[in-house]
Amino acid sequence: MQDMNNKLAGLGVILAFSMSIEAEAATDIHCGFLLDVERKKVIENQHILVEGGVIKEIGSSINIPDGASKIDLSAQYCAPGLMDMHVHLFIDSKKGETDDQAAPTQSSAYKALLGIRKVQILLNSGFTTIRIPGDIDYHYAGIEIRNAINRGEFTGPRMLVAPHAISQLGGHGDFNSYSPDLPYKIMGPLIADGVGEIRKAVRKEIKYGADWIKVMASGGVMSQNDDPTVAAYTQEEFNAFADEAHRQKKKITAHAHGDEAIRMAVEAGFDSIEHATMMSDETAKLMVKKGTFYVPTLYVLDWILEMGQKGAIPASSYEKAKFVATRHSKSVKLAYKYGIKMALGSDPIFPMDQAIREFRAMTVSIPDNWHVLQAGTINGAELLGLKDEIGSLKVGKQADIVAMPQNPIALMKNIENIGFVMKGGMIVRNDY
Ligand SMILES: [Zn+2]
Ligand SMILES: [Zn+2]
Repeated sequence: MQDMNNKLAGLGVILAFSMSIEAEAATDIHCGFLLDVERKKVIENQHILVEGGVIKEIGSSINIPDGASKIDLSAQYCAPGLMDMHVHLFIDSKKGETDDQAAPTQSSAYKALLGIRKVQILLNSGFTTIRIPGDIDYHYAGIEIRNAINRGEFTGPRMLVAPHAISQLGGHGDFNSYSPDLPYKIMGPLIADGVGEIRKAVRKEIKYGADWIKVMASGGVMSQNDDPTVAAYTQEEFNAFADEAHRQKKKITAHAHGDEAIRMAVEAGFDSIEHATMMSDETAKLMVKKGTFYVPTLYVLDWILEMGQKGAIPASSYEKAKFVATRHSKSVKLAYKYGIKMALGSDPIFPMDQAIREFRAMTVSIPDNWHVLQAGTINGAELLGLKDEIGSLKVGKQADIVAMPQNPIALMKNIENIGFVMKGGMIVRNDY
């Protein structure tokens, strides 16, 4: 692990400087098999011509310009770059520590360094685009990482960032382990109560570069003293969140476990719901009607339960995890049954190289591997409003391409063996 991190860090510097040259030159990628996620088809023997970072042509026999470089993936399965819609970079608690004990001991500068390492691990495993749905940081390290990558100073995935998770006082995004009589209050990064504070919090996020707004709509699992079944805000407050975000042309998502919180956020017009562990039949139908995306985050609960058994997380969090886990797969099955659009999100509070396991975790409740692959590619692009630019291998889209030796549609675990990653025409990794 340490070796890989060192290698990745070195790679980042080299690639940053060679990126512009590589992205401009024409490249012929020969794929043995190409996964067309929109038509749910595996197409054999395809060439992808990449020029200026964009897919120019795809076909079995296409005109390749003289001098084009060649990449031989004739024994591999090519797929669009993967998308993880639920990534935290700064949750870094040690064994037995609560998140709100760990977070105030780590500076934003440290988190930025940690975050660069983590996004490079994600990119290396095949995620060319990620969304940060709020993170534990008093400042804006996520925004700085996004900007540094966009400027070409570091290698990393495309990033869309909600810097913080806006929370009610005492909610999932507040720090609730501390005594009320401390001379200085230790609170979560962005607390807002009442319509006025809510609008101001949204405006502050946007002022400092937010692409997305994130709201803690219910209590959570890893936080202290809050209840996952309780809605964190009134309907009027949820409406204010969505109105302020949308008025400023930003999208908004909610962390929500209990059905009431899910329903209220959906009613308010939120673009996506994270977790939704206790979604009811009625709320599922409402999400279809409203076109709300569902990001289920399944692997993280498996991981929390495993850690709970080992006594590696606080006992109260283990109890909450056991409770919300009982309904989680039912929510995913409801979503599949009614046709709620699902996007993949891993919620990594675990080592980042395990984020890719979310694909396999989704197949436990979703019987169609194409459906899962769509969740981790084209549906993510649609959720982000970037469907015309990324999410599938199509002429005119960005050349975000991954490849692996075996077919993930036959066995989803195969996606954990990606050995080729290209982002915007730049080769990030090629093991073949
Ligand atoms: Zn959450
Ligand atoms: Zn999360």
